[in-house]
Amino acid sequence: MPSKNKDFFDDFIHYAKKLYGEDNISLHRPIFEGNEKKYLTECIDSNFVSSVGKRVSDFENAIAKFTGAKYAIATVNGTSALHIAIKLSGCEFGDEVITQSATFIATCNAISYAGGKPVFVDVDENTLGMSPTSLKCFLEKNAHIKNGKAVNKKSGNIIKCCIPMHTFGFPCQIGEIKDICEEWNINLIEDAAESLGSYVDSKHTGTFGKIGTLSFNGNKLITTGGGGMIITDDEEISLRAKHITTTSKVPHEYEFVHDEIGYNYRMPNINAALGCAQVEKLQDFIASKRDISIKWKTFFNNYDVDFVESVPPNRSNYWLNTILMESLEERNEFLNYTNKNNVMTRPIWTLMSELEMYKECQNDGLIQSKLLSERIVNIPSSVPFNS
Ligand SMILES: *Cc1c(COP(=O)(O)O)cnc(C)c1O
Repeated sequence: MPSKNKDFFDDFIHYAKKLYGEDNISLHRPIFEGNEKKYLTECIDSNFVSSVGKRVSDFENAIAKFTGAKYAIATVNGTSALHIAIKLSGCEFGDEVITQSATFIATCNAISYAGGKPVFVDVDENTLGMSPTSLKCFLEKNAHIKNGKAVNKKSGNIIKCCIPMHTFGFPCQIGEIKDICEEWNINLIEDAAESLGSYVDSKHTGTFGKIGTLSFNGNKLITTGGGGMIITDDEEISLRAKHITTTSKVPHEYEFVHDEIGYNYRMPNINAALGCAQVEKLQDFIASKRDISIKWKTFFNNYDVDFVESVPPNRSNYWLNTILMESLEERNEFLNYTNKNNVMTRPIWTLMSELEMYKECQNDGLIQSKLLSERIVNIPSSVPFNS
């Protein structure tokens, strides 16, 4: 078996270019081979390009149907969906929100917008998402129940929500996390921005918690340019979400009355038109991405490289295929060499606990997060053209 050296790097580059039949390979570019132009043209011709129009509810219905959520509310991006989800979970200024340190900045920014303070627990080395064991240990060590609420013994603040994230599309142990949250009376919100088309058994990620959120940014599985979605089975939350994301306007024929501070977070019709075309291709995209992941796995089998897989009952959408290098040095060599040769590879995000704004936030030591962040590399994962 060849060892990891420059030969492996070259084989990797060669294989990536063969797999995609392209010379310059991105990590995850969008693909528009369906009704995108048709729906966009129709939308422009209709004049309804902004926040009123039928494409928005069509897209919401399609996503609700696909995920199995009762309600779906479209927003301008995934961050705004998270912001509203956290707010509607009752998060008030100073409340604490447990999340993972290994996540995209949007999760923490949304917590901050809602007035919350992030608290970081470790991730699981197999799923790369929040570890239920770490969550349980953190709570048993640092929290107690007071008047029916989880209170942080150190800070005295209420722990209001918990936001696990399904990293790169790999479902975390969401069932176990849900049980712990119920035991501690903590609201569960799932950041499912990366996991559209990922399941635990036959239940879609994002539908385990009280609220789930999705993103349709340009690099996600399907895109609306920019966009997001709140999904929930709770009718009251769905109505509140729709209301405050549309400036809290009270329905009236011509009067402008707004009954609370609202947000201009409604997804525009023109973005939803793109979404309606993309969602028609979603099943094909998922099948094609599964195929790519199997090819990558077979490739890495010939080398001494860990390829991250989801293990049943978890089913990943393989949004971003992920390998683990042996060390930080090797990771950096690989990143440098591949990017120089026009094959895009990326490390995981800098841990939230290491960023200036969040480094004072309480954490549990984050042993796995730190180890993994030195080793993780994401490799090209787009749906190939004409697939
Ligand atoms: C993409 C993403 C979001 C949402 O990002 P937007 O760009 O605001 O749509 C949130 N959380 C995670 C983990 C993401 O990857």
